[in-house]
Amino acid sequence: MLVSATEMINKAHEGHYAIGAFNINNMEWIKAILLGCEAKKSPVMLGVSEGAGKYMCGFDTVVAMVKNIHDSLGITVPVALHLDHGTYEGAKAAIAAGFTSVMFDGSHYAFEENLAKSKEMIELAHSKGLSIECEVGGIGGTEDGVTSNGELADPEECATIANLGVDFLAAGIGNIHGKYPADWAGLNFDRLAEIQKSTNGKPLVLHGGSGIPREQVQKAITLGVSKVNVNTECQLVFADATRKYIEAGKDLEGKGYDPRKLLAPGTKAIQDLVEDMVENFFGSAGKAE
Ligand SMILES: [Zn+2]
Repeated sequence: MLVSATEMINKAHEGHYAIGAFNINNMEWIKAILLGCEAKKSPVMLGVSEGAGKYMCGFDTVVAMVKNIHDSLGITVPVALHLDHGTYEGAKAAIAAGFTSVMFDGSHYAFEENLAKSKEMIELAHSKGLSIECEVGGIGGTEDGVTSNGELADPEECATIANLGVDFLAAGIGNIHGKYPADWAGLNFDRLAEIQKSTNGKPLVLHGGSGIPREQVQKAITLGVSKVNVNTECQLVFADATRKYIEAGKDLEGKGYDPRKLLAPGTKAIQDLVEDMVENFFGSAGKAE
């Protein structure tokens, strides 16, 4: 059974570790992430962007696929199915389809409108027993064609949204979606501490976790980040392992072209990465025992 993320995130916040929210794209991604987290006894969130949801033929397909793969693999660790960067309409659709957690990203609206829509969405999600994440300020980079300014979130705006009862809060602290530029200034820990103070210790979310030096993310986790999103890094290890398989000519040996063989190295690379991250990076390994 898929669960709301509230309990796993609150426990992570109290225990000063983080839950990985790994974005999924297809069956291989779902299997790799679930098997990796089961092997390490780590709670996990599966993130789905609206673009990936469309790619997987809609939210109903995603929910059915994740539920059935979860049950078929006999997964026992807590798993939340989470909408990543949901629009107003998208979040409602994901809730109706059976997601157990949603992000409503109103950061591109004027603050008053973000506030009003976040309030409505928090009430809707909680009425169904789901966890909800909202966003204050922008996060640098491009996601599904939307580019934000990447400004640092305002601690008072964070407090206002936190007081609505949001379960965890995405707030820009210098993080960026996608690959980080060479001249990136790093995470702003002072702003992170200010936000943690103004929100009375609301669990925070770090978007764009791929590409930030691990020690910076680990410091952010000690300061109140309890959910770290990972997308690009899984894509890179999958592509790298697949390229090596093809460049070695293995697809031309025997039945190496069989998709079950062709996609196996990339899938294993994702599972290895997930196991490494939950054990050596986020500290969530063993927390589901
Ligand atoms: Zn994001």
